Amino acid sequence: MLLPPQIGRQSLQCSKISKMEKTVLLDDSENDIVKASEMIKNGEVVGIPTETVYGLGADALNPEAVKKIFAAKGRPADNPLIVHICDISQAETLAYNIPKLFYTLAENFWPGPLTMIVPKREIVPDETSGGLETVGIRMPSHAVMRELIKKSCPIAAPSANRSGYPSPTTAMHVMNDMNGRISAVIDGGESRFGVESTVISFDDDSTVRILRPGSVTAQMLSEYAENVIIDDAILNDLAEGRDAPSPGMKYKHYSPKADVKIVEGDYKAFAEYAKKIKSDNLYCLIFDEDDFSELDMNYLTYGSDSTEQAHSLFARLRELDERNAGTVLVRAPQKDGVGLAVYNRLLRAAGFEVIRV
Ligand code: AMP
Ligand code: MG
Repeated sequence: MLLPPQIGRQSLQCSKISKMEKTVLLDDSENDIVKASEMIKNGEVVGIPTETVYGLGADALNPEAVKKIFAAKGRPADNPLIVHICDISQAETLAYNIPKLFYTLAENFWPGPLTMIVPKREIVPDETSGGLETVGIRMPSHAVMRELIKKSCPIAAPSANRSGYPSPTTAMHVMNDMNGRISAVIDGGESRFGVESTVISFDDDSTVRILRPGSVTAQMLSEYAENVIIDDAILNDLAEGRDAPSPGMKYKHYSPKADVKIVEGDYKAFAEYAKKIKSDNLYCLIFDEDDFSELDMNYLTYGSDSTEQAHSLFARLRELDERNAGTVLVRAPQKDGVGLAVYNRLLRAAGFEVIRV
């Protein structure tokens, strides 16, 4: 469900855009997509809409181009990038020893928000894989991203935020983070899902391990894989001494400037707790159906079901910073289905701080 492009463009007519110096704002016309594909072929970095979140794209096979992504984001060099393809035949050029289950899952979930990790071929530079011998591959469904890949090459693209900050779900978010740091941003409207792809690896031919939850859920995967393991590090801080199965697990993530705390409990208990510690810069992030109108408290809502919450979460976290929120109490989402992805992002935004009321 893409917003009509003109809505995205209108939303960019605000004051912040006047700060733009070097970064060009493109739209999703054929003409602009050709321009962006030329930039990518020239080794430049472009902000690109995808169905998950906005990505920061560059030629995945060009180490110099990939280095520019890391520099623009301030991303640690050992945190690998996902490589995006538009045709299944490209997978074999990037990877080898690909299990049969990879193809079964590709058939059922691609194009879409699923990234699969497999052994990489030499053609994939160490810069892209963060020095690992594996590569994460995804075939996105967003028409703009697909066209760009078709017109250029496999595209390495992490989320287009400054490292550690919430991921961007609009072109405006990307501009706010990346203006002057990258060549262009394509405005393709709001991201449909709002959370990054599900990342999986293969323990064996019939077992997948979820390293990052997303909109392709454990339940959905279990229709095709005999065993689906949800890695411990999704709901818990990485155990001391354990090597991260995915380098992204080691780093602080998704954090606005505000101090985020997850509050686990029903609406009444949440409201009681919030009232007790109320202050001018305390904000509550609650469900649409929670009624705070009588409470004289600062609050925003982030949807009523997991799909809506995934769609809104990052935009709300950014909005809370714009409002200079000091502390944010978030009503805990459900922990199953897409809710697991929402909860995982919140846990990291909150530095694993959960208050039970
Ligand atoms: P982002 O680029 O912001 O969407 O994050 C990509 C996530 O996928 C990070 O958490 C990475 O650590 C993870 N990832 C990408 N490639 C690999 C890989 N080859 N092995 C393990 N994790 C990976
Ligand atoms: Mg990211």
